[in-house]
Amino acid sequence: MKFISTRGNDTATGAEAIVRGIASDGGLFVPEYFPQVTAEELAQMLPMSYAERAATILHKYLGEYDFEGLKAACEKAYAQFEGGDAAPLVKIDSSLYMLELFHGPTCAFKDLALTLLPYLLRKGCDIAGIEKDVLILVATSGDTGKAALEGFKDAPGVKIMVFYPNDGVSKMQKLQMATQEGNNVAVVAVKSNFDDCQSAVKAIFTSEACKEELFEKGYLLSSANSINFGRLAPQIAYYFSAYLDLVSSGQIEAGEKVNFAVPTGNFGNILAAYYAKRMGLPVGKLVCASNKNNILTDFMRTGVYDRRREFYKTMSPSMDILISSNLERLLFELSDRNPVRIKLRMDKLKEDGVYEIYDEERAALSELFYADFCGEDETVETIYEFFEEYQYPMDTHTACAMYAAANYTEKTKDKDTPMVVVSTASPYKFPQDVMYALTGNDIKDSFKAIKHLNLTTAMKPPKSLAKLRDKPVRFHTVADKDKLYAEVVRFADEK
Ligand SMILES: *Cc1c(COP(=O)(O)O)cnc(C)c1O
Repeated sequence: MKFISTRGNDTATGAEAIVRGIASDGGLFVPEYFPQVTAEELAQMLPMSYAERAATILHKYLGEYDFEGLKAACEKAYAQFEGGDAAPLVKIDSSLYMLELFHGPTCAFKDLALTLLPYLLRKGCDIAGIEKDVLILVATSGDTGKAALEGFKDAPGVKIMVFYPNDGVSKMQKLQMATQEGNNVAVVAVKSNFDDCQSAVKAIFTSEACKEELFEKGYLLSSANSINFGRLAPQIAYYFSAYLDLVSSGQIEAGEKVNFAVPTGNFGNILAAYYAKRMGLPVGKLVCASNKNNILTDFMRTGVYDRRREFYKTMSPSMDILISSNLERLLFELSDRNPVRIKLRMDKLKEDGVYEIYDEERAALSELFYADFCGEDETVETIYEFFEEYQYPMDTHTACAMYAAANYTEKTKDKDTPMVVVSTASPYKFPQDVMYALTGNDIKDSFKAIKHLNLTTAMKPPKSLAKLRDKPVRFHTVADKDKLYAEVVRFADEK
């Protein structure tokens, strides 16, 4: 399959799209068409393991990768998940389910893609005949950075550098990154917010001068951010798998519709749900949940995307984003794949901070999505109330999705369509906030909070977080937002 840029001036094979990360015209690579999964194929996927289901979906987009290789890579990636299932579906109530995506090495859903991306990238280089080393730059609001570092540490022929907002991630997230092991990794704190980190990294990617200088030093630039199609594709698989689990456990009949509620930041996770729907999965409504940074809620309700607003730091930091990059891919579909229109809007967003879509696009948008947001107080209340009722502890991001899902059900009185809430992080990743929500206690020390959370909920803490306590901090660099390229060059020159 061929991939095309949302801005109209670049094409690539699947392997090239993954290796390059972003199109040369600044757009994002999208598949030329949506491969279909028929009802028969769905039925054939029922008895498969998670890894095999994932490989089946991936192969539809990445035909140049051989299926057996993909399957082996998926098996290896998903064997790292605690409990033996990478994406277990947990029944909470008669038509309410949690899709738990936090059992991987870094306890957030990013692991589903980033445990596999190193294979997709290395193999992609082989297929595309690229012999250079790859230098991966990542801007992170917290969870991507750690998952990418873990995925790529000590991978041959790869170096990875991660930028995170110095005051914009949780203590646990910071510690996870600053203690990262591996000989090919670097971590830099940036004196700014996530949007600036992301813009700075994107600017390096689209600068011919930067690319050339690094190329001469022996590196090809690539991205592990969710703008990379190699991040998106593995995420499509868990929507299929959740659906198949509902069918095989007799909760629904094949063909029945299912709603999904997704805590959303950069729009990667929920976009994967939309792609699954376009591939033929019977998906009903997609509930797009934001936190206090509710730019997407406003956009879906009014058709105006306006980033000229205050940026809030919340207890769900991985959703503290004003520029949702992957929305560009959805806009492309809503516009009937009109790259000229997309380029105009993205230029307008950059220059004026605002753009508006047409009425018919907005109508299509509200057909597909229900948008809502969850403030800080509501996040705390949702965690508390849900635990009181179901004894199920959830993290601050998941709580936003649960809140929006409850509002959707309340408003539409649609109590019969199954609702799957996508749980994107372990509550142990944000132990202080979750403990505060459950007990009102403000615990200063993260590890103490983990211990108390364990006593309060009886849920087992993930091994990887408990081990952090004894690891030495390796990275101390704090940089200005306009000095990031200098850090990249310094890292490229390191032996
Ligand atoms: C990254 C992240 C999100 C947001 O996902 P997007 O794909 O950026 O929309 C939500 N929750 C958690 C825990 C995350 O790490």
